[in-house]
Amino acid sequence: MDVVGKVALVTGATRGIGQAIAARLKDAGAEIAVTGRDEVLLQAWRDQGVLAAAADVTDVRQVEDVVQAVVERYGQIDIVVNNAGITKDGLMMRMSDADWQRVIDTNLTGVFNICRAAIRCMLRRRQGRIVNISSVIGVAGNAGQTNYAASKAGVIGFTKALAKEVASRNILVNAVTPGYIDTEMTRALTEEQRVEILRRIPLGRTGTGEDVAALVHFLVSEENKYITGQTIHCDGGLVI
Ligand code: NDP
Repeated sequence: MDVVGKVALVTGATRGIGQAIAARLKDAGAEIAVTGRDEVLLQAWRDQGVLAAAADVTDVRQVEDVVQAVVERYGQIDIVVNNAGITKDGLMMRMSDADWQRVIDTNLTGVFNICRAAIRCMLRRRQGRIVNISSVIGVAGNAGQTNYAASKAGVIGFTKALAKEVASRNILVNAVTPGYIDTEMTRALTEEQRVEILRRIPLGRTGTGEDVAALVHFLVSEENKYITGQTIHCDGGLVI
């Protein structure tokens, strides 16, 4: 799956799924740039020669600075993977304004901020691949996650609309919906919750960052010439 020489920006790549995606694209020969907020983990990327920028996806100025830094260093952006995301779970009737807003701002507005900043570069060059990391929760819903489900469903709608907007310029935009992936985000679940989720996964195991990275790799590669506006589950069959 050819990404050799392509310039890829991956948000939220300090750990978890984003880290796996960035590592896979780098191994495959792409020039990568990563973002996150954890300075120690960003430094680990810099030690590998990667452009690793401290940037909060909710901050328009920081996002624009990152995109500019990538263009200054590499002259272009071919691939954007919007992966940064958070949860702040709780029953809707008790959810604070802050927990609602922070999740929407990070998971949905963050995707808009990055896409708006990076798209001009892709439009000019009449090529590009964007993958937005949504979630099966945005498709199926989940009690205790109204804010997260709304943000991730929003990402799917955003992806479809943007795919139609930029298709004539050969920019392909897709959403990937992971199921239960073993990362820091899901480690907070109790053993009881883990067992219950595992019971519902037909493939009988939780996913890894690498499982998601393999799909993203294909979607952003030269081999993907005809898939756009789609929402593709990577969930071991959890939502069929
Ligand atoms: P982690 O919590 O392990 O990692 C989240 C990443 O997002 C970190 O690198 C974090 O970096 C970054 N991040 C969070 N908030 C911001 C922000 N405001 N600005 C910039 N970066 C930010 O999560 P996962 O790897 O599990 O999740 C990655 C994506 O996949 C998310 O969008 C998540 O919703 C989605 N997903 C995950 C599933 C799972 O089962 N794990 C299932 C379905 C979807 P830092 O802390 O350095 O800022």
